Amino acid sequence: LNEQTVKGKAKKLAQAGAVPTHAAVLGAGIMGGGIAYQSALKGVPVIMKDISEKSLTLGMTEASKLLNKQLERGKVSGMKMAQVLSTIQPTLDYAGINRAQIVVEAVVENPGVKAAVLSETEALLPDDAILASNTSTIPINQLAAALKRPENFCGMHFFNPVHRMPLVEIIRGEKTSDRTIGSVVAYATRMGKTPVVVNDCPGFFVNRVLFPYFAGFSLLLRDGADFRQIDKVMEKRFGWPMGPAYLLDVVGIDTAHHAQNVMAQGFPQRMAKAYRDAIDVMFEQQRFGQKNGLGFYRYQ
Ligand code: NAD
Repeated sequence: LNEQTVKGKAKKLAQAGAVPTHAAVLGAGIMGGGIAYQSALKGVPVIMKDISEKSLTLGMTEASKLLNKQLERGKVSGMKMAQVLSTIQPTLDYAGINRAQIVVEAVVENPGVKAAVLSETEALLPDDAILASNTSTIPINQLAAALKRPENFCGMHFFNPVHRMPLVEIIRGEKTSDRTIGSVVAYATRMGKTPVVVNDCPGFFVNRVLFPYFAGFSLLLRDGADFRQIDKVMEKRFGWPMGPAYLLDVVGIDTAHHAQNVMAQGFPQRMAKAYRDAIDVMFEQQRFGQKNGLGFYRYQ
């Protein structure tokens, strides 16, 4: 973690990097759709590219729903709503992508797919365009190896739901230039987010904090604690927005299970465990949380 950035150098970096005026997002899923919405809301027009028509439609529907809520609360006008929606350009091909000064990749968490998508996009971009990946777990240096211009590449890790979560981790790869970090910090700031610049390692910053917390939670369950009680104490008494069980349901148990394995491989002495924990058991039972209606809690 680059502490200087956390303590306020982010603004200086943002001033050093140009704010992009045109952006693109690859993937229109939960994260890509959210990133495209937030970019358009804050005045940076965005191309939203997916391989699935259904995902594009869902991405646009989600953006409309969020804007409708803002409209009901009187936070945006009908005109602003129409204008924001018109600046998200859904596409199944790469039409217009050469105008993007920054492209955020948010396709499925698969190293092979990401490497292929990143390198085919890079070939269509001007030499100075910036590419960033929203990967949760894949090392930035590994993804950079697929690129001809790794200096223009870094991680840009948003959190779910994008429109509500303030933090964005910006992950500096070994070859990432200061110009790239500056522009991505500037873009995140323009999107109304709080960027922190961190070094490349398994779990980056947030998951290195979060997964030991989940491990502690799982150990309490092994000791016989009730997850509802733990959530209640963390929320009502400790004052956190939600407890660990509910948070796992929001993140998705499948996503958490994958990230937990990555952390265990990256830090075997600290994170590997010799027992099946709650996340393993729920994953085996396909209780994925809010996304399929059943996790620690029931959502149907
Ligand atoms: P998702 O499954 O909702 O969306 C992925 C989208 O990528 C789908 O719409 C799919 O059609 C599309 N896609 C697949 N191959 C593609 C290709 N070749 N070109 C363009 N689009 C393609 O997944 P998600 O939850 O939005 O996650 C996306 C990325 O964000 C992953 O890397 C994930 O690890 C990361 N992430 C997820 C979360 C989360 O809480 N869900 C949080 C932070 C980061």
